[in-house]
Amino acid sequence: MHAFAVLATLLCSAVTFIQSPADVFGPVRLHEPTPSSARDFGAVVSHAPSAILRPESPADIALLLATLSSSSSSSATGPRASVAARGTGHSLQGQAQARGGIVVETRSLPRAVSVLEECLKTGLAPLSWTDYLYLTVGGTVSNAGISGQAFKHGPQISNVLQPEVVTENGEVVTCSPTRSSDLFFAVLGGLGQFGIITRARILLQHAPPKVRWVRAFYDSFDTFASDQELLVSMPEQVDYVEGFMVLNEHSIPSSSIAFPAHINFSPDFGSKGNKKVYYCIEFKVHDFQQDGSNSVDHVVELVSGELSYMRAHMYSVEVSYFDFLNRVRMEEESLRSRGLWDVPHPWLNMFVPKHGITQFKDMLMDTVTAGDFDGAILVYPLLTDKWDGNTSAVVLSTPDGVMYVFSVLRSADPSRCGGRCVEEILEQHRRVSDEAGRAGAKQYLARQPSQEHWRDHFGSSWDRFAARKAQFDPMHVLGPGQGIFPRTDSASST
Ligand SMILES: Cc1cc2nc3c(=O)[nH]c(=O)nc-3n(C[C@H](O)[C@H](O)[C@H](O)COP(=O)(O)OP(=O)(O)OC[C@H]3O[C@@H](n4cnc5c(N)ncnc54)[C@H](O)[C@@H]3O)c2cc1C
Repeated sequence: MHAFAVLATLLCSAVTFIQSPADVFGPVRLHEPTPSSARDFGAVVSHAPSAILRPESPADIALLLATLSSSSSSSATGPRASVAARGTGHSLQGQAQARGGIVVETRSLPRAVSVLEECLKTGLAPLSWTDYLYLTVGGTVSNAGISGQAFKHGPQISNVLQPEVVTENGEVVTCSPTRSSDLFFAVLGGLGQFGIITRARILLQHAPPKVRWVRAFYDSFDTFASDQELLVSMPEQVDYVEGFMVLNEHSIPSSSIAFPAHINFSPDFGSKGNKKVYYCIEFKVHDFQQDGSNSVDHVVELVSGELSYMRAHMYSVEVSYFDFLNRVRMEEESLRSRGLWDVPHPWLNMFVPKHGITQFKDMLMDTVTAGDFDGAILVYPLLTDKWDGNTSAVVLSTPDGVMYVFSVLRSADPSRCGGRCVEEILEQHRRVSDEAGRAGAKQYLARQPSQEHWRDHFGSSWDRFAARKAQFDPMHVLGPGQGIFPRTDSASST
């Protein structure tokens, strides 16, 4: 049974050419840029804005955009500043930045809340999550928002019913599949190009008090993948399916910080030149039983009985629903304590068609020194029919309807990997994604290096994406940090 809820998101925007913002914006109060407005989680791109807006309501954003729109149409004040919404700035390559423009810090909106905590007060929760919770709804639905629930419920963008959007000319529009539907589909997966989302009504479900969280280990990639596909064919029993590679002796402890069971698995990783890699599936079953009955045990037994993991290497724990969803926070705390959070993150996220996963995994392994790898490589399947092809997100077309997420998530410890090393990793990722792209894979969350690359990325949906831009932001004011559309005036900033 689904219910609806209205959830707040975060907003951001910035101004450039203005000597004294107050002269131009009258009642819109802009602030001096702060270091964080030119920084993000990736920490490889830094472009300072000229100003930031800390909106107290969507009306503040509307006023900023309307003022910019009317001032540039009179052209008395010169070209229009670019504007980037910034949620929590967990982008990887400057996507929420606006060089010389205005950054709108959406987190200053009074409605910006912890979605999970607010929902749990009523016993409800969204259906589709990201692994990490400390992001904004506006930021994640501008990409897609995926996690282990997406095989069952689709990405977050498949669970948005009604966003409220401030458009480039300062209108506040509430849209849905039947109301201003062109704007609705444009902003979902729209990379911040078509408007600033200030609110969204999303699907909710009853939240279980507890979940059973299961991990099972594999020494064969093929068996690991076919068991994952078996699990995603069991949506009635299973609520979440992910998996990761076990590359070295650090992989298990570092990925098990939030998993409250001792994992007694010390495999042989082979020797140089003959390295062995292992794999771990994790799945989750919701537990609504308050009476101590063992129906969840029964489901786990039934499901795991179908799997071909290494016998003796299945581990099952019971945790609260909140702790499960908040699991990456504990990993964050551990990385922070080791000085590895506020460092560069050269990440690679790819959607790979099912038929190409073994080849992709082998190509990835050629670029990763398994013995030294510090980070995580997530691998899990998604079902393409859970994605709505009308949104702006890029969906693979695969004959079997299955695509895999490969996420190479590493922190570059500056004492071991400085600027040049990070550049080399990013260069390697570009080569991997170019090669995989030729076989039908697509990058997720990446800033493409040129408009030509963006055209390739969108493929047959490029014309639609470009037409949406012409309709909703013809002057190319919004989302400059994605580097998709060059400015149509000479407003490229300082
Ligand atoms: C530790 C970590 C874990 C992650 N895990 C996952 C995961 O499991 N699944 C997943 O899908 N992603 C994941 N991500 C990626 C994350 O979803 C994106 O980086 C997302 O953009 C972050 O949200 P944000 O609020 O920080 O966005 P920002 O970085 O602030 O912005 C991202 C983009 O969206 C635009 N934008 C931001 N807010 C709005 C708005 N209100 N309206 C319109 N456009 C807007 C920005 O201009 C920018 O282009 C993870 C990232 C990190 C750092």
